[in-house]
Amino acid sequence: MTLPELKEDCSRCAALCCLAYPFEEHEDFGLLKDADTPCPNLGPDFRCTIHSGLAACGFGGCVAYSCAGAGQRVTQALFDGETWRDDPDLLPHMTYALRVLRPIHEALLVLEEAAALHLPGSLRSRCAALTRALCPPAPTSVWDFTEDSVQDALAELPEFVERLAPFAQSSR
Ligand code: SF4
Repeated sequence: MTLPELKEDCSRCAALCCLAYPFEEHEDFGLLKDADTPCPNLGPDFRCTIHSGLAACGFGGCVAYSCAGAGQRVTQALFDGETWRDDPDLLPHMTYALRVLRPIHEALLVLEEAAALHLPGSLRSRCAALTRALCPPAPTSVWDFTEDSVQDALAELPEFVERLAPFAQSSR
């Protein structure tokens, strides 16, 4: 099993985070927008036109956001490097895939941290099993990640994390 990249690489993504999610009133974004709508600050080269002044412009939410590597995986591995600008019909499919893969990548980051703790054998085995379940072999489409085996592992993560608390403290 090979873990996917868990750090974002915007240079290999099609700015999926800048269109997939809605910006809502209570959030830290300088404007409101619907899901599946490109942010007006997004340039034609998929770069943010206000990147150097995001926080000052009221876009702290963008500064804090990470896709944990899901964006480039969707763009490169699931859509062969094509983008929603090449083919606008791809837009809802790419954003859906980001919304499915991002929580999986975030969960893998948590499991990576858990694996570094001094855990008893049973929790160590559970950690490895959850990690394996979240990494379907040779995925070719988003549907490999919506399988019950993957989604069940994702749903089990909060309970697993609760069981880590005593070991997280003793590892400090
Ligand atoms: S402000 Fe920039 S980083 Fe934030 S969503 Fe818009 S284009 Fe993307």
